Parts: sequence; C-alpha cells; structure tokens
Amino acid sequence: MQGQPHHSLNDARQLRSDNVIAFSRRARRTVPTESTRGSTHQTATLIQLWEKAGERDGLNGVPPQVLETLERLEQEGRPGALCVLRLNEYRLLEETFGRRIGLVLMQRVGDRLRQHLRGDDLLAQIAEDEFVILLDGQQDNTLLSHIAERLLGDCTGTYTLEGLRMHVNGNLGIARFPQDATEPALLMRFARIALHETTAGSPMPYHFFTSRLLKQLQERVWLAAELEQALAADRFELHYQPLFDIATQRTLGAEALLRLRTEEDELILPDRFIPLAEELGLIVPIGRWVVREACQQLKQWQQQGHDQLRIAVNVSPVQLADEDFVAQVIEAVEDTGIAYSDLELEITEGQIVEYLPLVEQAFQTLNAKGVRIAIDDFGTGYSALAYLTRLHWSTVKIDRAFLAAVPDDANATQVVSAIIAMAGELGLQVTAEGVETEAQSRFLVAAGCHKGQGFGYARPQPAVDFLRLPQLREGTGWHRDTQD
Ligand code: C2E
Ligand code: MG
Ligand code: MG
Repeated sequence: MQGQPHHSLNDARQLRSDNVIAFSRRARRTVPTESTRGSTHQTATLIQLWEKAGERDGLNGVPPQVLETLERLEQEGRPGALCVLRLNEYRLLEETFGRRIGLVLMQRVGDRLRQHLRGDDLLAQIAEDEFVILLDGQQDNTLLSHIAERLLGDCTGTYTLEGLRMHVNGNLGIARFPQDATEPALLMRFARIALHETTAGSPMPYHFFTSRLLKQLQERVWLAAELEQALAADRFELHYQPLFDIATQRTLGAEALLRLRTEEDELILPDRFIPLAEELGLIVPIGRWVVREACQQLKQWQQQGHDQLRIAVNVSPVQLADEDFVAQVIEAVEDTGIAYSDLELEITEGQIVEYLPLVEQAFQTLNAKGVRIAIDDFGTGYSALAYLTRLHWSTVKIDRAFLAAVPDDANATQVVSAIIAMAGELGLQVTAEGVETEAQSRFLVAAGCHKGQGFGYARPQPAVDFLRLPQLREGTGWHRDTQD
C-alpha cells in the first residue's frame, strides 16, 4: 500500500533465517540473538527462525519465544489464542519478483500486523510465508473473529515495493487455549488444521479449530491410505442396481455402483470416497477397474441367458482427462465381447457443464462406436442446456431429489413431467432415479417415463444376488425390496 514507510532492501538482508527475534509490545519479551544484537531494527524485527526451528526446539516449529510465553500464560492460568496467518500468493510473488522482494514484503506485512498487538501478544514469522500471532487473554469467539478480520484486513491489499505493485491477501487459522489444547505443539497443529480449512473450499478467510475439523482431516488421511491399499489389495466391489421398464416392470439392465470394503469388512459407499479419489487422481485406476469389471459381469450374465441386460457405469471427469480413457473403454468392450451399445456411461450433469470440452473430446469416439451416454442427476447441475445439443446423449436420469417429492408436491411433479416431455422432444430416453413407491411408479407410467431405478424395485446387490432377484423373472410385477 502506498504511503508505507520505506524499507530498504538492506533491511531484508539483515533478516537472515538464523536471526531469532520475536516482537512483543513488552520490551522484555523481545529476545535478540547474536546476529541481531546491535541491530538498529531490534524491536521491529520478526522471528526468522523457520528454517531451523524444528531442529532447535524439536517441537514442530513452535518458536522458543512462543513456547516460553505459552508456558508462562499457562502457569498464570490465562486464556489466549494462537493464530497462524499465511500469505496466499507468497510463492508466486517470490517466484515473480525474487526472494529479496519476498523478504521485504513479509517485513511490511509484519509491520502491519504488529500494530494490532497488545500486552503479552506475540508476533513471529515461522515460515517463508507464515506468521504466528499469540493473542494473550483472548478466548471469546466474537472478539477473536473481530481481531482475525482486522489482522487479515490490514495485511490484505496492494503493496508497492521498489516500484513494483503486488496484491496480497492471507488466511488465518485459530486455536484457543486452554479449551482446544494447552500443549504448544498441539496448539500449533490445531491452528494449522483451522488454516487448512480456509484453503479447502471454505469461503471464510479465517477459521477456528474444532474437533470436527480434526475428525474430518483424520478421516481424509485414513481414507487416502485406504483407497491406495484397497486398489492394491483388490478390495473394491461393484454392486448392481436393476434398471427397469416402468410400464412392463421388466429388468432391462443394471447400474454398477462402486463400494470399498475395508480390511475390517466394513462397506464404504462411494459418496464418502469418490471426491477424495478424484482429488488424488486415484479415480483413474479405480475407474479403469470399474469399467472392465462391469463389462465382464455383463458378459457373464448374457452368457447365462440374460441377453436383454445392459450395463451402466458412472464415470468422473477426472477419468476423462486421462488420455488412455477412451482406449481402455474400447479395450474392455472388445476383450469381454459385449456390444458397444450394451454399455452406457453416466456422467453427472453438474460435471458435464463444468468440463464440457473434456466430455466432448472423450465421448465423441465412444459415441461413434455406439457406446451410450447418460446425463446423471439431471436437474441439479445448473442445467445450462446448451450442452444437450453438443453430443449424442442417449438417456437423461432425473435426480432422485425430484422423485422424493412426487406425487405429493405439485411443483416437483411438474418439474419431473417437464423433464420427461423435454427428453421426449429431444428423442432421449428418461430414467427416473429413486423410485421408492408404487404411487411414484404409477405417476411415471402416466407421464411417459421409460425407465426407473429405485429401492422400491430393488436395491443395489452384489453380483451373486442380482440374478436371484425375483424382478429378473418376467411378470413378477412391482416388488418392494426391503433388504439392504
Ligand atoms: P448415482 O450414479 O446417481 O447412483 C444412484 C445412487 O442412488 C446410488 O447410491 C443408489 O444406491 C442410490 N439409490 C438408488 N435408488 C434409490 C432410492 O430409491 N432411494 C435412495 N435414497 N437412494 C437410491 P450410491 O451407490 O451410494 O452411489 C452414489 C453415487 O456415487 C452415485 O450416484 C455416483 O455418482 C457415484 N458412483 C457410484 N459408483 C461410481 C463409480 O464407479 N465411479 C464414479 N465415478 N462414481 C460412482
Ligand atoms: Mg449413476
Ligand atoms: Mg444419479
């Protein structure tokens, strides 16, 4: 920001990484070391010990000054909060403008933050792009929120350094003591967990640590390892849910639905692990297995005399980005010997809209071969309908959220009717997801919906149970399946 006191680059050079000095309002809290002793910037200098902090105090980078203050506050029985503030684009700025500018920038940000310190508050730089702020006596969430907003508001903005202008903003994580933890290393970890939340899709620039956050993170770490191991140990399973003809109540095929079986024999449903598998890229090898396994299963059923069956497989856009995806689908179909038109790939509407070029590119070849392509969860993905004209879609699957309110809710019922009519105009098949009651089934027949899928007809089943479903035999009619 303009109008800031000028700092020369020499100042930055003096802030070498082994300078250890924390700033506090109280002079006695300022701990100069050899290298800063005698410096004219003593009281204004920040801790720069991040490179060696871990070695020095053996406590996950908790600076000794922070440690010391925390210990004293604990002895005095005073509450407080430990905040970790990170500059978001620091690395980009450093790469763009060089390390010296980066150091000066951190000093400027530190200068701004320092103005908010009171009493035994402490400010220390703990990493290239991070500060720790110890707030003495503060534990009230409302007050801490105000302080967090002020700290972030004050360091956010445009800085001009050596005539170069750069925009800077930050995120902040807060852990309170003694309520969250009293042990310094734990407090630091918890503040970082809260900080992590601000960059994990939350719109909030600051977050308080909560035990829920810790659980989420532990689940994420556990799940990431579980996904890797399950892939290696072949612990993924496909369950198959019948897709049926609504008018004749005949089973037309199945949707393959992925499950993960843990070593402890717990079955984990895909909503819990697909997003992480996508994030980690593991959905690519997992999805490859799914396509092949589903094609093999279909072939087996067809060989057992169920020629009418088709198979639907869910795909994620992350898989489509893999350049081998198309070739692997073709290989799976060719190797198992099913017909291309017996395979339907489902992609969620929201993802089609978001990744349209990728979807088009991947599906054009498959489309030309005869593979069918369905729009899954239709009606929830901000329906930017232009995409409907871009590819040769075969099926629209109406999201089960609409069906849940049918036929009691007039609006939802009208939306379902409108989707069925629109699909008819476009020459697309319609599948209603989540058909649970006979009343829904009757409404769908009257509305002209072709296919259904839902617990009211049958739940997803392991392959061995699928052929035993009574619904697979003609003329068994509507059957409410209650087993899980
Ligand atoms: P989806 O593709 O929309 O699959 C339908 C989901 O609705 C399944 O949940 C199914 O069990 C559930 N369902 C079906 N009928 C009913 C009903 O009558 N009532 C209720 N309440 N639910 C019903 P599931 O198996 O938990 O799968 C959730 C989602 O995970 C799927 O939604 C799909 O988006 C994703 N998924 C599943 N398998 C795969 C896969 O192999 N690859 C990818 N990328 N995603 C998958
Ligand atoms: Mg689906
Ligand atoms: Mg769906």
